[in-house]
Amino acid sequence: MTEIQSPTRRRFLGATASGLATPYLLQSNTFVASAFAQEAEAPSDFRVTRIQVGSFKITIVSDGGTIQNRPWETYGTDRKPHEVQALLKENFLPTDKFVVSYAPLIIDTGTEVILVDTGFGENGRPNGAGKMLAALQFAGYTPDQISLVFLTHLHRDHVGGLREAGAETFPKARYAVNATEFDFWVSEARIGSAAEPNHRDVIEKVKPLAPRISFVSDGEGVLPGITALAAPGHSPGHMILNIESDGRRVVLAADTVVHYALGLQRPNWEVRFDMDKPAAAATRKRVLDMIASDKVPFLGYHMPHPSIGFLDRKGDGYYFVPATYQFAI
Ligand SMILES: [Zn+2]
Repeated sequence: MTEIQSPTRRRFLGATASGLATPYLLQSNTFVASAFAQEAEAPSDFRVTRIQVGSFKITIVSDGGTIQNRPWETYGTDRKPHEVQALLKENFLPTDKFVVSYAPLIIDTGTEVILVDTGFGENGRPNGAGKMLAALQFAGYTPDQISLVFLTHLHRDHVGGLREAGAETFPKARYAVNATEFDFWVSEARIGSAAEPNHRDVIEKVKPLAPRISFVSDGEGVLPGITALAAPGHSPGHMILNIESDGRRVVLAADTVVHYALGLQRPNWEVRFDMDKPAAAATRKRVLDMIASDKVPFLGYHMPHPSIGFLDRKGDGYYFVPATYQFAI
């Protein structure tokens, strides 16, 4: 299975592209690209959603999704499996499998075209991911147009798309990442640890770009209206973005929270992907509180497509309220 959609849903969304009424006012398309069909065993659909934030055009260019087993081994790893399964059930979700979505996005400011994170790249294609590049092209951009690639952190599902067919995917881009993050992953101290495979990816895909990388620290402006904020824990130098234009604002929360139900409703539960679990929980508390208190929309890299919504505070946790037409009117 390569996507979250059921076959019925896929047909319906496919039909919307040819003129039937769309169920949402977010501009969203699902596209079956015959040009790429020879690369895949089954036709791939590329999910692209555009929103307007002030004068910025933001396009979510989904990298796809992967299906994984035994959710309790990833979420709530400090809890009993039945507790994790009960919360999944409460959210009308399967209890033995889960889907992880990946949401790179483009911020088009009018003068710069920024890509935030790059998906899995080629290595993700056998598992239903690696669709960012095709989605980006479907959205009307060419790789040459990307002027800046901002990497929230250097996990392989964020850096994999930096190279394609043995070459740089974005030959005209400059790059931005946190220095602590870069230093951690390029260090040979990772060899022999669980982090070694990711280290090897970073050596292959990120380190060669070093001459064009700007190292960004907490509170630093990436471009006018776009500020990077430290959000460590998920990884040592994980960063989020505060994006503001013409009085509109959206927070790009990256991997601060991973699962839209389990992670938001139980922000204190441990998550396998979080490298420093207490720091990740503290960051989650701080960032989610800011998003809920300021009542601003947020983009979550692993939220279900279109990966944007709001937070409804309940007790010690939050419920995900998916965005609908807030950006269209
Ligand atoms: Zn990550």
